[in-house]
Amino acid sequence: MITVPVDEIFASIQGEGPYVGQRHIFLRFIGCDLQCAYCDTPDGVKTPEGSLRPCRAQISPDSFDREELVNPLTGVRLTEVCERLRVAGSVKPWLSLTGGEPLLHAEFLEQWLPAMRGTYRIYLETNGIRHVDMQQLASLVDLVSMDIKLPSSTGQRERWDEHGLFLDAALGSDVFVKAVVTGDCDPEDLWRAVRLVAERRKTIPFIIQPVSGMEGPNPEMLVRLQNKALAVLDDVRVVPQVHKMLLVP
Ligand code: SF4
Repeated sequence: MITVPVDEIFASIQGEGPYVGQRHIFLRFIGCDLQCAYCDTPDGVKTPEGSLRPCRAQISPDSFDREELVNPLTGVRLTEVCERLRVAGSVKPWLSLTGGEPLLHAEFLEQWLPAMRGTYRIYLETNGIRHVDMQQLASLVDLVSMDIKLPSSTGQRERWDEHGLFLDAALGSDVFVKAVVTGDCDPEDLWRAVRLVAERRKTIPFIIQPVSGMEGPNPEMLVRLQNKALAVLDDVRVVPQVHKMLLVP
């Protein structure tokens, strides 16, 4: 039976991007193929004893109390936890796949998502480089939140080619792009990301997200970046991580 390592399962308020404020169930998968300087989910996969650390699963949608589940989890167990966190309503709730990098688990997701789509809208939050996995899952997700990694902010190498291929693969779904901007951000990096999006479709929403937890860009720089991006894209927003202000998970 195929299983997957999951760090957390919880229901909370979406704190990023154009869907900020909505209710989401979040599945935070373990593992990432990048090491961004500003990462707020560092990847301590193993316990001191060498086993995979447990998954922290919220018990009910009304409180943030959690229990620990043995990792890795089966799809059946994952579905049970999602169900107990689901708030019934007139529209399908959002199920947000985050991490880490969820596309590292594309094989699991390809098997698990078809049954989930009857009940949930699937929101994929990704670092935007695994284009082959994106192609494989494109018909199984409703919305793609794609990061474009700015080298001067991440401290990592350039990923422009991979991001371009990824965005091409994601265009079959609804997609928006997000770029995290630190105080060290080179405006030329952001401009390159904006052009990469505009060359494909200028109506794709583009989110400039000031970094949390370390020195961010000054307000004038943010406004200048937004002004320049608006010259070639229709929808450019500056949105900070709201859940950190609200002190929710
Ligand atoms: S892609 Fe996301 S999870 Fe991975 S290192 Fe960067 S910020 Fe952290």
